[in-house]
Amino acid sequence: MTELERKQDRAPVPSEWTYASAPEARDIVTLQDRYGHYVGGEWLEARETYTTISPATEEPLAEVGQATPEEVQAAVDAARDAYANGWSDVSPSERAKYLFRIARILQERSREFAVLESLNGGKPIKESRDVDLPLSAAHFFYYAGWADKLEYAFPNRKPRPVGVAGQIIPWNFPLLMLAWKIAPALTAGNTVVLKPAETTPLSALLFCDVLRQAELPPGVVNIVTGDGRTGAEIVKSEGVDKVAFTGSTDVGKAIQRELAGTGKKLTLELGGKAANIIFDDAALDQAVEGIINGIYFNQGHVCCAGSRLLVQESIYEPVVEKLKRRLTTLRVGDPLDKNTDVGAINSKQQLDKIQELVASGAEEGAEIYQPPCRLPEQGYWFAPTVFTNVAQSYRIAQEEIFGPVLSILTFRTPDEAVEKANNTPYGLSAGVWTEKGSRILWMAERLRAGVVWANTYNRFDPSSPFGGYKESGFGREGGRHGLEPYLDLT
Ligand code: NDP
Repeated sequence: MTELERKQDRAPVPSEWTYASAPEARDIVTLQDRYGHYVGGEWLEARETYTTISPATEEPLAEVGQATPEEVQAAVDAARDAYANGWSDVSPSERAKYLFRIARILQERSREFAVLESLNGGKPIKESRDVDLPLSAAHFFYYAGWADKLEYAFPNRKPRPVGVAGQIIPWNFPLLMLAWKIAPALTAGNTVVLKPAETTPLSALLFCDVLRQAELPPGVVNIVTGDGRTGAEIVKSEGVDKVAFTGSTDVGKAIQRELAGTGKKLTLELGGKAANIIFDDAALDQAVEGIINGIYFNQGHVCCAGSRLLVQESIYEPVVEKLKRRLTTLRVGDPLDKNTDVGAINSKQQLDKIQELVASGAEEGAEIYQPPCRLPEQGYWFAPTVFTNVAQSYRIAQEEIFGPVLSILTFRTPDEAVEKANNTPYGLSAGVWTEKGSRILWMAERLRAGVVWANTYNRFDPSSPFGGYKESGFGREGGRHGLEPYLDLT
């Protein structure tokens, strides 16, 4: 390091950056006072409703349906009718046409969707705008391309649609998870009943307008809103042939128990506790950006978040110092401000869970660091947090926190890194930072994780399969693999 570099490296960083606020205009979104369920291409008046809010302000946004068993049944019947009376016979290139249309309309309306996603979910607008929306559209584009190539995708096998897919999605990437579920299901010739999460139903409801614009035949996609009871009704409905679930491991296990012996197809994308592993030959400044992106992206509400940082002992001090310094520059606040890096926690319930786990970390003996930052008084907020002095047995090193909380552990040898990284009931993702390609391959072979990122983190592409090992679930979404759960291959 030259003298100049050394000076720059130690230059003090101001603890507060003053940025003029840059709010994204909200008026592009028109909310209705009350939403029903989208069934058979029509709006069905909801018998029961609840209020969906903005987690950043606790402001009520709209009344949304809490689907009853009869309403879920109506949606399943509409999907079955659409499947039997037309959609399964639509030619593959015709199916592709609808998917291409949906993709293009999402692109055209992306600002509207991005603002709504940030309003209802609390995520920073720069993430909804630059990640959620482009990736959602990309998923529809990608799967549109497969519709007329299914015969070639699975040589010597005859791909046929499964029937009606029941799909249950979480609140961390509401529109993107919808795209991950609906795009492959439709391209394979299935019809769908989808339930968004209780706290983030609005982008799925706006998506119904995209379906209308795309002139998708009625009943091919049906959307019912409500809490876990609605999800449970979809799972047990006899008219559903396949269930796709993304969410917590506990609910995933309950669904698996419910479906045992029914012959219904099931894919589960559940929690994670990923290791982000930094070797001493890694480019440290890039690695620090990867750590930040790995755990503070989307407030850490990411199943594949790099929530356990494993740092090689020889570089522990500089990494922690650089990381703390970088944390002081993160801007926490209004999700609709284009400067915001960390937005609101999605719900009071999730905030309580994060607070409880963070308290357990401090009680068990870990050392907590939070950069100085002023949190808004209204709404649900949690400062970016780092724990050092963490033992593998601590709850913060074992359990999925699903918040902006990082636990740092150390290792000496590659073998120890592998052993520690795999020491978890989960197996969704991992990150490896090193300049040696051979070491990346050596690690990737040994890490029990569905995705291993090398010198990057939280990168997604519709053509790459995503999914877990162990308690992170089974089945893959994305890529050619993502078609299989929606096909009977004979
Ligand atoms: P859940 O697993 O409860 O929610 C996921 C989806 O399943 C939601 O749509 C939910 O509805 C629905 N659901 C809830 N209960 C049932 C049921 N019995 N049968 C069918 N569907 C059901 O996750 P939470 O929102 O409660 O979050 C709890 C924890 O789960 C988080 O702290 C995090 O650790 C983990 N999680 C992991 C995610 C991932 O991507 N792997 C995503 C979300 C959470 P409703 O919205 O009404 O609860």
